[in-house]
Order: sequence, then C-alpha cells, then structure tokens
Amino acid sequence: MRVLVVEDERKTASFIRKALQAESFAVDVTGNGNDALLMATSTPFDAIVMDIMLPGRDGLSVLRQLREQKNPTPVLLLSARGQVNERVDGLNAGADDYLPKPFALAELIARVRALGRRANEPVTLQLRVRDLVLDTVTHLARRGDRKIELTAREYRLLEFLMRTPGRICGRMAILEKVWDYNFDPGTNLVDVYIKRLREKIDDGFDVKLLHTVRGVGYVLKE
Ligand code: CA
Repeated sequence: MRVLVVEDERKTASFIRKALQAESFAVDVTGNGNDALLMATSTPFDAIVMDIMLPGRDGLSVLRQLREQKNPTPVLLLSARGQVNERVDGLNAGADDYLPKPFALAELIARVRALGRRANEPVTLQLRVRDLVLDTVTHLARRGDRKIELTAREYRLLEFLMRTPGRICGRMAILEKVWDYNFDPGTNLVDVYIKRLREKIDDGFDVKLLHTVRGVGYVLKE
C-alpha cells in the first residue's frame, strides 16, 4: 500500500512515516497543502493521511479539490481540535475517516489499513439488517426511529457484523478485523463490546438481531 502523509509538524510526520513504514507501507511525506494536491493528483495513492491545519492550502481545501477532480483516494483527516463541527466539515468535504490528535499510532495504522481495504471493496453507503441501518459514510446507526450513538470501536464491530449478516463471526475473526490483533489477547474484550452493542441495538426491541452462538461466536440476523 502506498500512503501520502500530509503533516507540517515535523516530529508528528516523522512518527507517522516510521510507523507506517514499519508496517510495510510505502510512504511519501509533505508538509504543504499545495504540494499535497500536486502529489495526490500525479501519483496514485491507496490512502492519504492529512492534517487539517497546513501552510499553503489547508487540508479541507486539498480534500475538496481532490473530490472535485473526482479523485476517489480514501482520506483520513487529522486534527488538533477534536471538534464535532470539524469532523462534520471533513466528512462533508469527502473525507473517509477522521482522527483527533493526539492519537495512538496503533489506531492510526488500523484506520489506514481499513481505508485501504475499503478502497478495494465496492462502495456501500448503507448497510441494512431488518430495521437496523448503518451509514458507512457518517458512521451513524439507527434502528427504526431510534438513533444509536456508537464509539469508533463499536462502529467497526457493527460494520463487520453487518457486512456478513447471517454468518457466524468467531472471536478471533472479530479481534483481527475490529482490533487488528492477530493473536488472542486472552481477555473478554469481544464479549464486553458485544454486550454493549447488544444493549444499543437490541434493548427494547422484540426482535433481537445480535445472537450468541455458544462456543463459536456471534451472528447478526433476524
Ligand atoms: Ca498542522
């Protein structure tokens, strides 16, 4: 995977570059918005990690310009100010994901990986199982008339389950897809998150959607 990192804060840029390279990504770095636009339009990248506040041209403007040119490269926006408005502005401008600073490098890598995967999948904006709907652009979920607030991790878990409705997802598969673990950390992490998710999507509804298959895993179905 080839990733463009746009970040003017040198230390942060260097951290991100090293972390991505350690995961075998090819990485190009620039600290200027105008250069970023040139690079992104002349080279095909699998993903772009871009700070919002930049000299030259800010990240939102670079993003809007790319989308105007019908450039579909997935973009993860970084921002020092973790404001809700900015996240909405970013998503409206065509960002695929948003990460407030400070962030954990593991989280960044997991998100970049997810963007790369998504770029190679057909675009699905809404996932639906019965009356449960998940918007993969805004990350908003609703069941019937009820709006469901999800944390980033709950979103990934629900998205994974909704992409394979009716199929039993084992605990290891969930750890790998949702936490990017390829080992069993020996905790009840998955069970805890499943319980929380179940409270959010099934509590108060007669028809339960999230089922436990004892000793095997979990399945989302009517
Ligand atoms: Ca900056």
